[in-house]
Amino acid sequence: METPVQALRALQEIDRDLYKAQAELRRLPAERDRRQNELTARQAQVDQAKEQIVSLQLRVKEIEGMNLTHGARIRKLEKESLSQRDMAVVEACRYEMRSLKRQIDEAEREGLEFVEQAEALEARIEELSEQLAADRTAFETFLTALEVELTEAQGRHDELCAKRRERMSDTLSPETLSLYDRLIDARDGEAMAALEGNICQACYMEVMPNLVVRLARGQGVVQCPSCDRILYRA
Ligand SMILES: [Zn+2]
Repeated sequence: METPVQALRALQEIDRDLYKAQAELRRLPAERDRRQNELTARQAQVDQAKEQIVSLQLRVKEIEGMNLTHGARIRKLEKESLSQRDMAVVEACRYEMRSLKRQIDEAEREGLEFVEQAEALEARIEELSEQLAADRTAFETFLTALEVELTEAQGRHDELCAKRRERMSDTLSPETLSLYDRLIDARDGEAMAALEGNICQACYMEVMPNLVVRLARGQGVVQCPSCDRILYRA
């Protein structure tokens, strides 16, 4: 008759690989999502830069429009100042013309800056888009490989599950099984530990003599007090 510890050790032989297959089945889609999100974020950067260019071009158009208006006003003031005899009015015209010319100069400088900013953004977009296109191609290749890996991991997983059902022993109580399953999760797929002398071979801590005796007598399930793993005699 198989003891619970022997039954658990038989399960552990399968569950070590099953845990790895399950981890793979979680890791691969997570990796795919991470890479997909990264590409989306970078596309958003490109889109944002394009929007910035549009808004800069709009500002440049506004400046050009304003300068045309100012130019028309200057020509009108020129005519007026030539036909005027009142020196005070002439002075006022000249004053306004100087002020408008200064505004035009300033606006032109600003407009030039916007044009330069837009050009820098264009260059950046081109660079980003090229990288993005290359990384999209790499992502497609990754997706193809991922499909293969996922299918393989799923196959291994299903195979191990079938094996596990075969090996499942009715000597294991639901409590023991649930303790064991918790440990598989908590201890990265290794729920069991060998006891050599009175040293746990998973965490290398000493186990109290009374537990060593209990294990030797085969009295139920004995856990390592330090790492909680279920002990078996090496
Ligand atoms: Zn231990």
